[in-house]
Amino acid sequence: MLPFFTEQFANPASSTHKEGRSSQQAVSFARSQVAELINAARDEIVFTSTATESNNIAILGTSDNAAANRRTVITSAIEHKSVSEPVRSLSRRGFRPTTVDVDNYGRVKIGELEAMLAQHSPYLVSIQAANSEIGTIQPIREIAEMAHFYGALVHCDAVQAVGRIEVDVEEWEVDFLAFSAHKLYGPKGIAALYVRGGSKSPRISPVMFGGGHEGGLRPGTLNVPGIVGFGAAAQIAREVLPSEMLRLSQLRDQFELSMLEVHSTIQRNGFLLDRLPGNSNLTFSVDAEALMMRLPHFALSTGSACSAGTLEPSPVLQAIGRSREEAYMTLRIGLGRYTTENEIHSLTTGLNREIALISAIQ
Ligand SMILES: *Cc1c(COP(=O)(O)O)cnc(C)c1O
Repeated sequence: MLPFFTEQFANPASSTHKEGRSSQQAVSFARSQVAELINAARDEIVFTSTATESNNIAILGTSDNAAANRRTVITSAIEHKSVSEPVRSLSRRGFRPTTVDVDNYGRVKIGELEAMLAQHSPYLVSIQAANSEIGTIQPIREIAEMAHFYGALVHCDAVQAVGRIEVDVEEWEVDFLAFSAHKLYGPKGIAALYVRGGSKSPRISPVMFGGGHEGGLRPGTLNVPGIVGFGAAAQIAREVLPSEMLRLSQLRDQFELSMLEVHSTIQRNGFLLDRLPGNSNLTFSVDAEALMMRLPHFALSTGSACSAGTLEPSPVLQAIGRSREEAYMTLRIGLGRYTTENEIHSLTTGLNREIALISAIQ
């Protein structure tokens, strides 16, 4: 990224000079790297600033083209706010937002979804690929096939999935897919929206207007250093994906089993058979906030970063049937590329020690 911060300032839209063309080439190369990570074509990648923006473009940009008899949009009960909020805003434009429930593992209730599709003929179904808090992976291919059968478009918020599990837009048959560089060890402030058929697809209209950048779908001068960094991060993610998936799921399982050995009452949240490899979400029998405070050397959380600081228990935990009390006793433990076996070992020791101490004074 450095040369594009310090030496190469040219605008990639300026093709009349050598400097501009050099920036253009760097963007084009990064676009291929990003596309390859999800098995898309290069011209199907639209660069945005955040996945929040990608989700908004997909949800609002397709509503303009919705047929007059398709006024519903279906989403799940455990979506990120960058999906649920634009969906909610559509009610002001005469659309009907509808939410499909999830089961106790966080999986979308497929039977309920099919009934909604048949009853409401939605223009769009927007379901996340994987949940940030409990790691549950949705059967996106099955959902997309079903939604298409009923004539709906399919958008997928895959921010938690891309770079962590195999994501293949051809296999999944989605029409739109959002992901973000900073969730796969890339820079902040750069993200992408996959658009099936490319940015000029008639199924989607711009929500912002300006120059013709990104096929007119996301006008504005491109963030060249960010894009170059995103490309490099995507390439690395693709290279290390198989080994990291294995290493993280083994380390996570080992962590959970050694916790359960000492505290058999710990409950694991999420769909254990199909979960993000680095996700562990545990319900203890002591207050999670207290546990977290006593382990300041570990970056743990009780919910999502976006809702941090609120006193409300996680809506995701409530959607999978956890009580408020249980939600307050739940910790989200994320393992990543730089998490070592030693760190997990000392976390296990620390958690066990603090749980015993808190239990003793309760
Ligand atoms: C982080 C996250 C987002 C938002 O991504 P930004 O690039 O930070 O806007 C959306 N969806 C999910 C599931 C996320 O985890």
